[in-house]
Amino acid sequence: MGLIGRIAAATLVGTVMTVGQCWLLALQAVPTTLTVPFVPGATYQWPAPVPANWPACREYVRWRGVGMEREQASEQMALSSRLPVYSVTRDVVGWPMGAMESVRREYLPLSGAGVIRAEGVGFGSGIRVRRGSGPAAFESFLPLRPLAVGFAFNVLLYTMVAFGVLTMVARWRASRRRHVGQCAACGYELAGLRTCAECGKVNEPR
Ligand SMILES: [Zn+2]
Repeated sequence: MGLIGRIAAATLVGTVMTVGQCWLLALQAVPTTLTVPFVPGATYQWPAPVPANWPACREYVRWRGVGMEREQASEQMALSSRLPVYSVTRDVVGWPMGAMESVRREYLPLSGAGVIRAEGVGFGSGIRVRRGSGPAAFESFLPLRPLAVGFAFNVLLYTMVAFGVLTMVARWRASRRRHVGQCAACGYELAGLRTCAECGKVNEPR
């Protein structure tokens, strides 16, 4: 594989690793540390655009875990309330930088005496994945939207790692071919000649 091919292959691997890692984190990562706690009585900006008929955001918290940051905003998080719930959950995943985001917007109407119907209206950006069954079932969202700086940084980092590995493999293969009397570039039998009859490369003498 030539240098251009190796760069192209490394870029492909770096991109797939960046997206794949974000999706694994979206499925597995747990935000464990509360970094912005709830402040009663405050009013916030919704962390993502919401329909014009939604009320103001009055509850906002932010969590952090390894490779994940989660913003949870709502008009009313307290489930004991008689109000319907409007909520936005925005996850940013990726390591070392946050590279992709998913946004869940949910409206849970009341069905009567303060009971929130499960079949609320949910929409947002991301691929909805249902996991588990019964009362333990929950949903994960695979993010689809890249964040320009973080995505480019992670792709560049993983591309460089992949390029290093591909270069080591190429060097190892060339030296093994030289060792057994084959052309270092294409593997053709040199039969004692220095110039390869197949690809024309001038090989170093053994
Ligand atoms: Zn050759």
